[in-house]
Amino acid sequence: MNNTSMNPCFGCGKPLHISAPSCPHCGAVQNLPNQLGPNAAMRSVNGVEPKSKVTAGVLALLLGGIGIHKFYTGAWGWGIVYIVLCWTYIPALVALVEGIRYLTLKQPEFAQKAARMDGPFSFLW
Ligand SMILES: [Zn+2]
Repeated sequence: MNNTSMNPCFGCGKPLHISAPSCPHCGAVQNLPNQLGPNAAMRSVNGVEPKSKVTAGVLALLLGGIGIHKFYTGAWGWGIVYIVLCWTYIPALVALVEGIRYLTLKQPEFAQKAARMDGPFSFLW
C-alpha cells in the first residue's frame, strides 16, 4: 500500500485505504465519490434518482393505456400521445410490450437507459 491509495478517515482522521467501506478504528462509514460498489448503477446520477424498472414495468402493464409509465420515465410527450390515442387501445398494446421489455432488462441497464432519456419524445427501449 502506498500513500496515494490512502485517505484520512472521515471519523477519526487515521489513514485508511480508499477501498475500505468503513473505518476499522472508529467504524465511520466512508462515502467517497470514487468508491463504486456493485450497486453503483442504483445510486443517483447527477442528483437524479435512478428510475426503477419494476415501477416502470408495473405502471406500463396496469396503466400503460394512458401512458403513465411514459410520464414516470420522463417522456411526457409520449404520455400525452398515449392519452389522446387511448380509445384505440393501441397504446395499451404497445405499453404491454414495453412493460415486458422493462421487466426483462436488468435494473442497471434500465436505470442507464432512463438516465439517457433526452426530451419528452425520447423512447426508452
Ligand atoms: Zn476512523
